[in-house]
Amino acid sequence: MAASLEVRALSVDYGPVRALREVTVDVPEGAIVTVLGGNGAGKSTLLRAISRTLAYCRGHATGGSIRFDGRPLDGLSPARVVAAGVVQVPEGRQVFARMTVADNLRAGALGARGGRRETAAALARVHELFPVLADRAHQRAGLLSGGEQQMLALGRGLMSGPRLLLLDEPSLGLAPLMATRIAETIQEINARGTSVLLVEQNAAIALRLASTAYVLDVGEVALAGPADELAASDEVRRRYLGVVDEDAAADAVQAEVSAPTLRRWTP
Ligand code: ATP
Repeated sequence: MAASLEVRALSVDYGPVRALREVTVDVPEGAIVTVLGGNGAGKSTLLRAISRTLAYCRGHATGGSIRFDGRPLDGLSPARVVAAGVVQVPEGRQVFARMTVADNLRAGALGARGGRRETAAALARVHELFPVLADRAHQRAGLLSGGEQQMLALGRGLMSGPRLLLLDEPSLGLAPLMATRIAETIQEINARGTSVLLVEQNAAIALRLASTAYVLDVGEVALAGPADELAASDEVRRRYLGVVDEDAAADAVQAEVSAPTLRRWTP
């Protein structure tokens, strides 16, 4: 069953570097919520704070709170967070390259609370979502294509039956068709009852999937609201969707045409 996540006024430092400042994000039960932002905005840091893996990167929370299903995650080990139903799929298709596809999936079930029956059901579900992972079960994961490795990383995350999936840029580096395929799968996973917190630089895909969106800028929430409203906002369109502000561009061209001497260099 899905559950809600509440991040309140979260601040995170890596030594002298402040990565997040008083960030507040909500993932309602059963929702897909996206966090957008450019390089270094703090997106991965937010996911690490939720999955309690900040310490592996020498980061630590200096303020705020994180509650899942009404209970604080602060102070739990990463394994206990997984057992509570919160699973992170990290950026960069991190699969165990020398292990088989089947063993990678088995590894995903290690932190699960369920027994053999639940694991078998989870595996059947993963194979249903990604038939290629059944076909290639005995192949080394490192031999899969980039898109297939992303499917494996997602599939491994699903093996423990998560209630909330934390996805770090699942479309990164994928061809458009494969990125669309992954997006459809995220929708399907959500429809079957898993909440999703999706971190993305690909705002076009993320805003189509999510009901609510947050924009992080240098560690702070700069914008937040319904995804369709953000998709229609000029600022988001310009900064994250690659839509050119035609009026501004026309003004710039006009200024260039009417004042050509201003730019002439004379020794
Ligand atoms: P990207 O989209 O490029 O992955 P991001 O939005 O996920 O970026 P983070 O990786 O969370 O951003 O980084 C936020 C800030 O924290 C950046 O200024 C980054 O340089 C800094 N940072 C991240 N990890 C560390 C670390 N282990 N040690 C020191 N600083 C770090």
